[in-house]
Amino acid sequence: MGRRLTGILELPQRIRELPPEAAARVDRLFDVRSIGGETDPPAELEPWLRETFGSVDAVRRQTMLRVTNLATLEATIFAPLRTRRPIDGPDHARDLAAEIAATEGDPFCDPEHATPADPFGRVRGSRMLTGANAALADAHHAVLVFDDHDPLDFDAALVADLFATGRAWADGARATDPGASNYLLLWNCLWRAGGSIIHGHAQSLLGGGMHHARLERFRRDAAAYRSFHDAELAADLAAVHGDVGLAVDRGGVTILAHLTPVKERELLVVGPPGQDEREPAFTDAVAHALLTFRDRLGVRSFNLALWRPPLTADGAAPPGWEEFPTIVRIVDRGDPFSRPSDIGAMELYGTPIVGSDPYDVVQALREA
Ligand SMILES: [Zn+2]
Repeated sequence: MGRRLTGILELPQRIRELPPEAAARVDRLFDVRSIGGETDPPAELEPWLRETFGSVDAVRRQTMLRVTNLATLEATIFAPLRTRRPIDGPDHARDLAAEIAATEGDPFCDPEHATPADPFGRVRGSRMLTGANAALADAHHAVLVFDDHDPLDFDAALVADLFATGRAWADGARATDPGASNYLLLWNCLWRAGGSIIHGHAQSLLGGGMHHARLERFRRDAAAYRSFHDAELAADLAAVHGDVGLAVDRGGVTILAHLTPVKERELLVVGPPGQDEREPAFTDAVAHALLTFRDRLGVRSFNLALWRPPLTADGAAPPGWEEFPTIVRIVDRGDPFSRPSDIGAMELYGTPIVGSDPYDVVQALREA
C-alpha cells in the first residue's frame, strides 16, 4: 500500500532496533502499541473504496498506532486512513487570499483608534502594536496587532518581534501589577484556529495565582518523573524523539515532530534549560517551524502557544520551575474551508485521532 518504512506505523519496529539504553528511555516515557482492525465491505462499495482509499484491502485490514506519554498521559491514535486531508489546491488558495483581502479595512487595520489601550499604554514593536483585548480573559490581556493585514504574511523577523513585543508588554503590565507573573503568548491564525479577526494578530495574557493549568500539569508531571526515574521529562522527551528520528536540532534548540500530537502535525520547540524565548536561537527555531508549516506543508491555520515559567523580577525561575524549559507548541488546524471541525468528542473527551504522519513533518523540517 506504499506506506514507507519510515512512517509512524513502523515506530514499534524502530524502537525494537534501538540500543538498550535508548530503548529503556522510550519504555519509561511511552506506551506504544499497534492496533489492528478489520472491516467487511460489500462488493458494491469496492469501487468507491478503491478510489477513496487506494485499495479495498486498505479498508479490509487496517493498522493504527496508539502512543501514550506515560508521564503526562497525553496520547494520540495515529490512524492514517482517517484523514484524507485535501491539500490546499489552487482554488482554496485563491479563495483564502480573496477572503483575507475582503476584510481589509477591519478594526485591526487601525488599532490605535479601534482597540482599547492598556492602562499603562501601548507597546510598539517593529512590526506590531499592542492593544488591550476588549473582552479580557485575565487581569491583563493584550492583542498584538501586526502591521500587516494578511495573517500569513509572516517571516522570521516578525516572529522575533512577536516574542520581544509580548514580553515588553508583560513587563509594562507587571510594572503596574507586580503580583501578575503568569505569562502566556498565543497565536490563533485564522478562524479555523479560533481567531475571530482575520487581520494578523497574536495575544498575550498575564495574571496571578497558579500558572495556567496545562503548564502547571506539565510542571507537576516533570516533578513526578524526576523523583521516580531520576531523569528530566523535557530532556527525555527530546532524546526519545531524537532516537526515533523525529527531532531536528536548530542552533541548540530542538524541534520535535510530536509523538503524542494534540492534533495534526503538532510541533514542539524546546529550548535548552534556562533559555529565554526572546533569544535569537529560539525565535529562529520557532520561525523555522512556522515557515515549514506554511511553505512546505501548506498549513494555513494554526495555533501557537508559548510555555515558560512565571516571570520574576530577577529573571530567575521561581522555586519548582527551575527545570521548566521554554517550549512553543504549534498545531495545524486543517483546511480553513473544511466544514467539519477537526476537534470532535474523541479529541475533547477521549484520545485525539491524527491522520498526518510525524515522519512526513520532520522530513519537511529537514528539507526546508
Ligand atoms: Zn486589517
